[in-house]
Amino acid sequence: MTDLLLRNGRIIDPANGLDGPGDILVRNGRIEAVGHGIPAPDACLLLDVTGKWVTPGLVDLHVHLREPGEEYKETIESGTRAAVAGGFTAVAAMPNTLPPNDSAAVTRFILERARDAGNARVHPVAAITRGRAGKELTEFDDLLRAGAVAFSDDGSPVQDAGLMRIALEYAQGLDALIISHAEEPALSEGGCVNEGRISTLLGLKGIPWAAEDIAVFRDVALAELTGARLHIAHVSTRGAVEIIRRAKGRGVRVSAETAPHYFSLTEEAVLDFDTRAKMNPPLRTEEDRQAIIEGLADGTLDVIATDHAPHSSLEKDVEFPLAASGIIGLETAFPLSLALVRAGRLDPAHIIRLLSTTPAQILRIPGGTLSPGDRADIAVFDPERSFEVTPENLCSKSHNTPFLGTTLTGRAVLTLVGGRIVHNLLGVGG
Ligand SMILES: [Zn+2]
Repeated sequence: MTDLLLRNGRIIDPANGLDGPGDILVRNGRIEAVGHGIPAPDACLLLDVTGKWVTPGLVDLHVHLREPGEEYKETIESGTRAAVAGGFTAVAAMPNTLPPNDSAAVTRFILERARDAGNARVHPVAAITRGRAGKELTEFDDLLRAGAVAFSDDGSPVQDAGLMRIALEYAQGLDALIISHAEEPALSEGGCVNEGRISTLLGLKGIPWAAEDIAVFRDVALAELTGARLHIAHVSTRGAVEIIRRAKGRGVRVSAETAPHYFSLTEEAVLDFDTRAKMNPPLRTEEDRQAIIEGLADGTLDVIATDHAPHSSLEKDVEFPLAASGIIGLETAFPLSLALVRAGRLDPAHIIRLLSTTPAQILRIPGGTLSPGDRADIAVFDPERSFEVTPENLCSKSHNTPFLGTTLTGRAVLTLVGGRIVHNLLGVGG
């Protein structure tokens, strides 16, 4: 492995309170030194990254890699290639595969495939219940030993509050993390857009904000009751932000994420029945969007996660109510987050904290920092570099994104995983 000296970048490392110019020396796959005027050792690749951001590799707490079972949508190989192209060096893989990741054998299979692919690191999230059917718990202990980092039935809520309580109690005993897909199905069933003006206008069945708020409230209450660590996935409503804000104020061990689409778009995006803007939870109102940004700004929302959800044209080129929910996000997360910096809503160190430092801490995995001695999981971003979102420019196998055809600004130009170059648009050193 070649040693590397990244010279004169803007080093943004919130964990160490760094945001300023400097060099990083990578040797034997680890960060050897961070500082100014570091001399280049012999046989070291020297990369001038003036004007670029040098950050800890991004960590995505919520992706769907579709393998095993739906490899025509994405594979662990293509999904992790999309990850490193977006500056992510680690991703947490949700268990709604076929079969679901509800056993140590599936967890080990995912880890093995990820190692073979050699792109981003993959941290499996195992199912809370067998078959994600919401009836009986999986073997948490076995799954943790096999390498699972958290438990979730993501894609579906755990409907039975009593079972969710037991899952949280069990997790609390193991100091494990439960990730809640917070949705009250009795209210959301059959819905495909936000309930309100747009659903009425289009004649589509809506999903009310209450479907999310009720479920968030229930799971926050159960976390408070049990003392377990709870993480709320894909927050989309003003009310959910407020419930989480208050819970944190009381000291409940809850963390939460939102996805770039919830602070970038509103329900208006589905006005022309564009199935690429169909997702669950649905895009909401401008008032919700502003509340999400406020929640990110004041620390109520801890993480930006993509909820990368690849679907092929088979699931998307159909009538709106029949189309699958979900959009891809790994390759657009950074520029969409950077837009919040340009709009003056968050500073650069804050978005790196949301995209890297905090998700690594919540999952208790290595990464998210640039401390000497750490594994060299590093991303270099050009904040001025624009690119058009086209199928040709995407590494993901699927292209289901409402940003297709748009030009975004801010792109990962170099990604290192354990000091290995796994993505390189700098045109040198590859
Ligand atoms: Zn979900």
